[in-house]
Amino acid sequence: MNCSRRPLPPAPYAALLVVSLLLATPLSAQNDGGRTLVTADRLIDGLGVMHEPGALLILNERIVAVGDDATGASWEQRVDLGDATILPGLIDLHTHLTDAEDAYWEQVLVTTTPSEAALYGAANALTTLRSGFTTVRDMGPAWSFTDVDLRNIIDEGTLPGPRMMVAGNYVSATGGAGDARQFSIYVDVPVVQNLADGVDEVRTAVRTNLKHGADFIKILATGAVLSQGIPPGAQQYSDEELEVAVIEAGRWDRFVAAHAHGAEGIKAAIRAGVRTVDHGSMMDDEGIQMLLAQDFTYYVPTLYVGVIVPREGASMGIPEAQIQRSTEMMRYRNATFRRALEAGLPIGFATDAGVFPHGQNAREFAIRVENGEDPMDAITAATSLNARIMGWENDVGSLEPGKFADVVAVPGNPLDDISSMERVFFVMQGGAVVRHDRER
Ligand SMILES: [Zn+2]
Repeated sequence: MNCSRRPLPPAPYAALLVVSLLLATPLSAQNDGGRTLVTADRLIDGLGVMHEPGALLILNERIVAVGDDATGASWEQRVDLGDATILPGLIDLHTHLTDAEDAYWEQVLVTTTPSEAALYGAANALTTLRSGFTTVRDMGPAWSFTDVDLRNIIDEGTLPGPRMMVAGNYVSATGGAGDARQFSIYVDVPVVQNLADGVDEVRTAVRTNLKHGADFIKILATGAVLSQGIPPGAQQYSDEELEVAVIEAGRWDRFVAAHAHGAEGIKAAIRAGVRTVDHGSMMDDEGIQMLLAQDFTYYVPTLYVGVIVPREGASMGIPEAQIQRSTEMMRYRNATFRRALEAGLPIGFATDAGVFPHGQNAREFAIRVENGEDPMDAITAATSLNARIMGWENDVGSLEPGKFADVVAVPGNPLDDISSMERVFFVMQGGAVVRHDRER
């Protein structure tokens, strides 16, 4: 199955203007028709190769040359970043951009409005872009389809933000993870319909989400940590329900992303043919072997969120029982990641930003490296591997001629100190500079 969707929009040039007005910073590399040469002491191309020194030549919204080919060419503007490393724009496969940080998601439907979600979404999109994430796969809002609107507004160039691939609406079983209507039986929010039980309702939910602008389907294969519903270790959808979601999405040439913590739900999702197993916390050795035996489904863990929720969950408004679930899950998450690494699985890069503050996405790098991943491999995961998982590898994910000029820079060398990924000071998206801090 391929996972194409509508073509990526061209560079959001209007974003340049909006950001420059908002931040009142001088822009060093506006593409006014000429070629821009970006140089630094180092460049990592997203495919595992380090160039020293680093050079990148850009014309309009695309890259035209890299390395020696770029240095030897003529240019009209030059941006020299000095003792820094140039990287492809980063990609996060699991964000919730329209989630406000001051509202706990199970209360969102009775305490907030969709317009609040939209406004937070606009702010969070800018924060995420400025932290170096030029592309995200957004895994669903509490207020259905607010992510579709956010994507459209960014794509048309009205607001700055990452290139977004969106889920539109969760597909959840009654009483399970993703059931946002955790109210008394006498209370309802009829406008939000994300529950589907049985094969027929799941098929209808998939069709409804795609009809209303979703790029892919997010399904909750198991319970969740941050939910009062069925426990995270339990499979909440039957094999048949998961299969019909994949089959129906396939008819639309789209893929399914499965939220899954428990081992049985993970294996059912792999058997069904989902594109990604998100979180994957309790994946057992059989699950790892199943992934190794095929090349369509990817394990996409979210490790940093498992650290921050036990530590700061109370101040984030998360109920005590759910913080407890997260603490218990910590026993599994990192160990599963290490076993997957040892087995040689490709591991997608994701965070669950929105549960913790947007813009802190790059903290996932350090925890992956602490758990044994080579820093270059972590960078490859967050760039070219993620682009391949999304089906966007022709446009983003590496610094190669023909790709969008989505470029970030961090001080020093991230292979020596991976935490430098948290100190992005330069961001270009589609050839337009959206951030260039003079002080570092
Ligand atoms: Zn999530």
